Amino acid sequence: MERTLSIIKPDATRRNLTGKINAKFEHAGLRIVAQKRIQLTRAQAGAFYAVHEERPFYDELCEFMASEPVVVQVLEGDNAIARNREVMGATNPKDAEPGTVRAEFAESVGENSVHGSDSPETARAEIAFFFSGLELVG
Ligand code: UDP
Ligand code: MG
Repeated sequence: MERTLSIIKPDATRRNLTGKINAKFEHAGLRIVAQKRIQLTRAQAGAFYAVHEERPFYDELCEFMASEPVVVQVLEGDNAIARNREVMGATNPKDAEPGTVRAEFAESVGENSVHGSDSPETARAEIAFFFSGLELVG
């Protein structure tokens, strides 16, 4: 069993797509073992995406992530990190496989509906960024 951190981004919460995206996770065998809807401050978004600080899209990304509510969640399952990345699809929706979240719902490479951790180390750090041990009931 593995856990990964997922975020349903503002473009998706705004369009009321939380349930449709969660259905794709569950259909792929991922269990939502923790979930909350929050609105990030600009500073919190900046801290979460600090790894991208030097990238040209960083400021726009942080503004976007703080613009409206997000749903942060922990997904659990066999190979949850890789499996979630498959369900998400490629970063740019133009490159995403049909049936993936980003192919179906993303509006652009920036406003691409979901975030998912990319390694066991980032999953651990990203889960701890949003959830305490008490909130992870399994
Ligand atoms: N992003 C962007 N422009 C780019 C690449 C990325 O706005 O050219 C945004 C996009 O929202 C993406 C996030 O920055 O999801 C993090 O980028 P990363 O390369 O980690 O993609 P991901 O892991 O989300 O597929
Ligand atoms: Mg990434």
